[in-house]
Amino acid sequence: MSEPLGVYVHWPFCKSKCPYCDFNSHVRDGVEQARWRQALLTELEYAAREAPDRQVQTMFFGGGTPSLMAPETVGALIRRTKELWDTSRDLEITLEANPTSVEAGKFAALAEAGVNRVSLGVQALDPDALRFLGREHSADEAMEALDTARRHFGRTSFDLIYARPGQTPEAWAAELDRALALAGEHLSLYQLTIERGTRFFTDHARGAFVLPGEEEAALMFEQTQARLAASGRPAYEISNHARPGAACRHNLIYWRYQDYVGVGPGAHGRFAIGDVKRATRRMSGPEAWLEAVERAGHGTAETNDVGGQDRVEEALMMGLRLAEGIDRATFASVAGADPVEALGESRLAPLVAAGFLEIDATHLTATPAGRQRLNAVLERLIA
Ligand code: SF4
Repeated sequence: MSEPLGVYVHWPFCKSKCPYCDFNSHVRDGVEQARWRQALLTELEYAAREAPDRQVQTMFFGGGTPSLMAPETVGALIRRTKELWDTSRDLEITLEANPTSVEAGKFAALAEAGVNRVSLGVQALDPDALRFLGREHSADEAMEALDTARRHFGRTSFDLIYARPGQTPEAWAAELDRALALAGEHLSLYQLTIERGTRFFTDHARGAFVLPGEEEAALMFEQTQARLAASGRPAYEISNHARPGAACRHNLIYWRYQDYVGVGPGAHGRFAIGDVKRATRRMSGPEAWLEAVERAGHGTAETNDVGGQDRVEEALMMGLRLAEGIDRATFASVAGADPVEALGESRLAPLVAAGFLEIDATHLTATPAGRQRLNAVLERLIA
């Protein structure tokens, strides 16, 4: 059987820029849908030449706000993917959506186009928090969108952001219980982080708000893990929780360091070419990308081959996020070395002794305590 592949499509536009967001998202007055559809199809064809002879198992429309795409564009990209590659019978096709009534109105057409999984950016169930996060929807509107999504898609998930200014562990526990009553098979629960270049970065620096302290935030993380596990949706990744078998298969491709191609502004790809892992990055600026695709057939800004130590580090950074850990044999085949041998006893032993890592004959795994402070663990491993 040909090697599995994921296809990522980036739609870079949003109605407004959320103050915490550092994604490649842009606000524009008008978007020429037909021109964008053609450019995305052109780069998809280029991606099929980059990574041919694979079986596509997942597609993911991310952004930006891909629920603002014309459903015909989504449908055309799905159809062309099926023509360009072999695709698995249970092809997972996820689309990220904002839970406004306008976007929910497109769900029937998106399902018709072939989308079978939707991830809704609900972000909070509290009206003040939604205002603070700069979201355009109300909590009620989000609930209605979730209901509509359930009617149209086999699989649904929604995101929430916690550890917000003024949020106590008790308030988060109550919000989480409400979320669990609404949730289906999957939930993504992210801690609010302040990223450089965002409006929150400036606001935070000038003292406009204060985030919960480290201990409170750690408590909220632990509550999240415990409540979600008790509800039958344990964490399979630091911020992602699912019923058994309901994990997002596309995101698993990233964390297992498997192959994917990226299409659209700023999209990344990683795929094996023989013994080499090729990394690609498309141009971030929407207009520059569009012009490049129209001129040259693709908007690639950078292509390099990830070698030796870099491959080990990338695979490690991804794999230790997963509760299942890193399969040592698979890691060796994708990264070129057994992780335990590559890292060495002197770096691993202190982290195992501290309870942050576990090693057995088949796996290297970050424990829940290790995943909670993964950045610090990785600093020790790849310093
Ligand atoms: S809708 Fe999503 S991608 Fe767009 S600005 Fe907000 S957080 Fe960023």
